[in-house]
Amino acid sequence: MTTKTWFKGNLHTHTTNSDGDDSPEHVAEWYHEHGYDWLCLSDHNHLTILEGSDAEKAKWPLLVRGEEVTSRESTGPVHVNGYGVNELVEASNSTDIVTAMQANVDAIIAAGGMASINHPNFRWAFDDGAMMQVDGYKFMEVFNGHPETHNTGGGGRASTAGIWDRLLSNGKRVWGIAVDDAHHYVNEFSPNLSNPGRGWIQVKAATLSQQDILDAMSDGDFYASTGVTIGDMVSNTREIKIDIDPETTPSDGIQAKYTTLFTGSHGRLLYESTSNSPSYRPTRLDGYVRATVYSSRGTKAWTQPVYIDIE
Ligand SMILES: [Zn+2]
Ligand SMILES: [Zn+2]
Repeated sequence: MTTKTWFKGNLHTHTTNSDGDDSPEHVAEWYHEHGYDWLCLSDHNHLTILEGSDAEKAKWPLLVRGEEVTSRESTGPVHVNGYGVNELVEASNSTDIVTAMQANVDAIIAAGGMASINHPNFRWAFDDGAMMQVDGYKFMEVFNGHPETHNTGGGGRASTAGIWDRLLSNGKRVWGIAVDDAHHYVNEFSPNLSNPGRGWIQVKAATLSQQDILDAMSDGDFYASTGVTIGDMVSNTREIKIDIDPETTPSDGIQAKYTTLFTGSHGRLLYESTSNSPSYRPTRLDGYVRATVYSSRGTKAWTQPVYIDIE
């Protein structure tokens, strides 16, 4: 068996090829300098492909092809990211959200890519009601770092994690990703701007290549994070075991503390742990099991669901 390694990457980024404020080269450099192994430049309705000399490429992370397929005519914004697409994908101009979403997903798959439904709560455009009517997408954003994406929901609107649970509980098999959706690189960094470095996934792959990253994503061999680091993880229908790498304050060596919630069908709490190595053994009635790790620093990690099939 080959040894697999975690590779850190961001799946949602803008450059001056759409509404980002820095060039693709500089954006790629930012991610390389900040410890990212790979990056998807996902401009609105533009396939950004960076070509460069070996010396230039050494300053960039591995670049995974992507596009934010962006329908602007629908009654709410329908943005679907395509990962690994071989060509530019045209966005649907349907006014109907479900029709536009399905057309964008289908076009991404036809272009050889995998589809992710972006930021459902952006402008409160749609929720699981629309997403249940669309087939073929593999991912949804459980966290988006743009300040207008309302990840936590409220006022009767479900959080993105709540939308994910409703999809899973109704039989959709969808992986949850955390992304930056970064636009702003050159001026100040502030909570009101969409700066880089807020959400990422750690993919467990044999090598750092586009194909291995995409294959591992397709299989759900990754976790999403806004700061929590997982050292090792076992995840199958018999056991889910997470080894958290605790964050430590450099000045005084004080460690963060963690709480992990294992949740199942309809978001039901199955088990809560305060250990740095939480584990849970799924039962036949759980439907699916996923874990959310909460750090005392305010950051989180989300593991991918394990599906418990009831015969
Ligand atoms: Zn978007
Ligand atoms: Zn975006």
